Amino acid sequence: MDSQNLDRHPQLYFPDGDIALFATKPAPKDGGQQRYLVFRIHKFLLRHHSETFANMIADANAETDTVYDGVPLVEMHGDNAEDLAAMLSYMYNPSYVLTPISLPLLPLNSFRAITFKRHDPNTPLLASGVIRLADKYCLQSLHDHLVAQVVSDWPTTLHEWDVLQGEIAAVWKLALTAAHPPFGGLPSDGAFCDLVPEPVAAIRFAQEFGCPQILPAAFYQLAHIGLAADWRLRDHPGDPPDRAAKRDALARWSMLGEENLLRCLRGFQELDEYFPPIRTFLCARCQPPEGEDGDEDEVARDTGGPGCYAALHRMISTLGTGRRGSKRDPIALLLQCVELRDQAEEIDRRIGKSKDSLCEECWDTFEEQALVERERVWDSLPRFFSLFGENP
Ligand SMILES: [Zn+2]
Repeated sequence: MDSQNLDRHPQLYFPDGDIALFATKPAPKDGGQQRYLVFRIHKFLLRHHSETFANMIADANAETDTVYDGVPLVEMHGDNAEDLAAMLSYMYNPSYVLTPISLPLLPLNSFRAITFKRHDPNTPLLASGVIRLADKYCLQSLHDHLVAQVVSDWPTTLHEWDVLQGEIAAVWKLALTAAHPPFGGLPSDGAFCDLVPEPVAAIRFAQEFGCPQILPAAFYQLAHIGLAADWRLRDHPGDPPDRAAKRDALARWSMLGEENLLRCLRGFQELDEYFPPIRTFLCARCQPPEGEDGDEDEVARDTGGPGCYAALHRMISTLGTGRRGSKRDPIALLLQCVELRDQAEEIDRRIGKSKDSLCEECWDTFEEQALVERERVWDSLPRFFSLFGENP
């Protein structure tokens, strides 16, 4: 190793360190010479955190033929310098980690919390390399910490899902009310996709690192992103920039893999074919005769009038085929329908009772039962997407 190619890490190079480790830096973009990052650290800390490191140090002591700056120099074969920096800084201060080198530079002495930016679509990718390294050197606590970081960005209950959707809607609305055009036209203006978690990276992460509890939400989120809204648009938005590149959630579709694609096809079909069980939403008085379920016009004809069944069928059909928010999203659709009650009452008050409105008893029943149905749909997501079976 030519010491000319070694760059000392700005923080993890301690004058009283008694061992030097070095690892490969990312390959220079201009095709220049490969450079390495060297860390001068303390053996006791490595031994304290990891048995693998303890053995490695014992070997290094036995054959101290390579010395750098007066201490043994050990090459970390196959390790990425950025990931190694994150792991070592975790050892020195388990609550903090260095900013990955590839991110915009912070002042040299600034450590930042190991907590990634909340909802950062890159978190699963940034964390993956460090976790693989943590596994290699048996640092279970770092593994657990980073997995928990990714999991915390994804809802695991319907309540958490609703909170996340509320936050995403707020982010969207804020952009619309800003002084500048939403997410602008320049790369520097930022994009909506940078502010919301990205499902495909999360799915791959969950499958590699064993946190399947986030899979239902991630697949369900993916169901609402079109194939055209590919992550490539983020870096190559076109000229003029594609609207989707700035204002839509994007997905890393190409990372999905064959088995997950099958899961998507199955889940999307289930969601496309889903229609709420209208009978359970109506009061006892307004139930159509048995066997009358079906198209609202049919039922209206057979039951001798529009009635509550037909009105609710029409409401759900209309909102369900609407452009925004409700397609393949029965969980949002049911909530939107319930929210219509206030508006319907306002319209009734102003311009008279609409023939399409529900009776009071049906509204009461619907309000209650729609929430039960939303929970049922949420609980069905693992089955829709064949998440926990043998085969997708
Ligand atoms: Zn009714």
